[in-house]
Amino acid sequence: MQPNLTDNILELVRLAATDLPEDVEKTLQKSRNEEEEGSAAQGALDTILKNVAMARENSTPICQDTGTPIFYVSYPEGWSTRKLSRQIQDAVIQATEKTYLRPNSVNTLTGKNTGDNSGDEHYPSIYFEEVDGDEVKIDLMLKGGGCENVSTQYKLPDSGLGAGRDLDGVRKVALEAVAKAQGKGCAPGVLGIAIGGDRGSSYAASKEALRRQLDDTNPDPVLAELEERITGQANQLDIGPMGFHGKTTLLGTKVKNLHRLPACYFVSIAYMCWAYRRRRMVYANGAVSYQ
Ligand code: SF4
Repeated sequence: MQPNLTDNILELVRLAATDLPEDVEKTLQKSRNEEEEGSAAQGALDTILKNVAMARENSTPICQDTGTPIFYVSYPEGWSTRKLSRQIQDAVIQATEKTYLRPNSVNTLTGKNTGDNSGDEHYPSIYFEEVDGDEVKIDLMLKGGGCENVSTQYKLPDSGLGAGRDLDGVRKVALEAVAKAQGKGCAPGVLGIAIGGDRGSSYAASKEALRRQLDDTNPDPVLAELEERITGQANQLDIGPMGFHGKTTLLGTKVKNLHRLPACYFVSIAYMCWAYRRRRMVYANGAVSYQ
C-alpha cells in the first residue's frame, strides 16, 4: 500500500525554508572572501551569511518571502499522483501553521489570501514524472516573488539588443536580464536559462535548470563554456550583492537546451535570488532521507 508521506514532506518544507543548501552557502562564503575587505559588498554578504546561520539555528524562514512552493515528484509505476498531491497540499498547510511558510496564496480575482497556502489545482506547483525503479524523489524549490518578477523571456533575434539566433545572442539577452534585475532581484542571483522549446516549455525548463547543484558542470562543453562566460561577464557589471557594487552579481548560470520549431528561438531566464532554497527528499525501501 502507498504510504502517507505528509509528515516527511512537512520536514522537507521546513528544511527548504530554513536551511540553505550547502552548495549555495559555500558559494556565498567564497564570494564574500573574494570581495574587497571592508567593502559594502562584503558587508552585505556577511549579513546574508549571518542570516542564513540564524535561520538554520532557530528553524525560522531564511527570508520573509517564503516564495512559491514548486514540487518536482518522480515516482514509480503504481503510485497515485492524486494521493501524493493531497499529501503535498496538506504538508504545505501544516508548514504554514508552523510558520515555516508565510501565507502567500492569494485569489487573483478577489485579492483574498487563503491564509494557509491552499489554493486551486496550480498552487502549490506540482510536477509529476513516472520513472523506473522503486524510489520516490521529491524536489522542492521555494521561488521568491521579487526574483520571479525579474525572470523573463526573449524571442531571438532581438534587433534592439543586437542579439541573433546563436549562443552569443543568448549571452547578450542574459546579460540584459541581469542588468534589468538590478535593484529588484536580491542579488547575487543564479540564472536558470532555457534555450528553445515553445513559450511554455521554455519557461518551465528555465526553472528546471535551477535544480542543478551550483558547483556542477554542464555535461555539454559548449553550454558549460556559455555558463562560465555569462557568470564571468555578469560579475563585471559591478552591480554586486544587493546592488552595493562589487564582484558578485551572479553565483552561477545553468543552461538547458530544448528542441524548437525553425520559426522560433526563445530564451527564457529564471532569475533566482541569493535565497536559493531547494531540497530533496528520497523515499526508498520504507526509509526517508533528505539532501
Ligand atoms: S527575491 Fe529572494 S531574497 Fe529577495 S525578498 Fe524575495 S525571496 Fe527574499
